[in-house]
Amino acid sequence: MFRMRAGKRWAMAGAFFLLAAASTVRAQQQPAESRDPSAPAAPQPAGSASPSDEKKTSVAHDAAHPIAKEEHRFWDRENDWLFAGVAAGRASDYASTLNLRRRGIDEAFLTNSIVDNHPLFAGIEAAATVTSVGVSYLFHRTGHHRLERWTSAIHIGVAVGGSIRNYALKTPH
Ligand SMILES: [Zn+2]
Repeated sequence: MFRMRAGKRWAMAGAFFLLAAASTVRAQQQPAESRDPSAPAAPQPAGSASPSDEKKTSVAHDAAHPIAKEEHRFWDRENDWLFAGVAAGRASDYASTLNLRRRGIDEAFLTNSIVDNHPLFAGIEAAATVTSVGVSYLFHRTGHHRLERWTSAIHIGVAVGGSIRNYALKTPH
């Protein structure tokens, strides 16, 4: 009973993270769009259009469209390590859940029949890793490189935290 509730709390935390991430994406996109039409509205004194002003305008234009510019390769060194961390986190979730099942404790997230089907459970862990990398890639392609990294970092935290919790659960006597 208590474990069910703990599992739901993790699921809620994950859902809240996705909601927060989605609303951050929207919040970051809105000001860029609304800034565009208001920028040239400032009154310009006659004869002030020097080449340096033109340069400033084009810089401001670039800043308003961060999506167009590629900041780094997706498979850079940092993402290599982050994705390796996510995969390691899922592997430790897999190992710690099987350890918990061997000790006769019920799985909180999935049903026991899924977890006890080891190839299926391993496939779910692999799919979770692939999905996480996919979400990172979407953030990367839309220019949200911080969210891209945070997706992996939070996933690692949740997976490692869940594994520690699995090992910490007391074996019933
Ligand atoms: Zn990126």
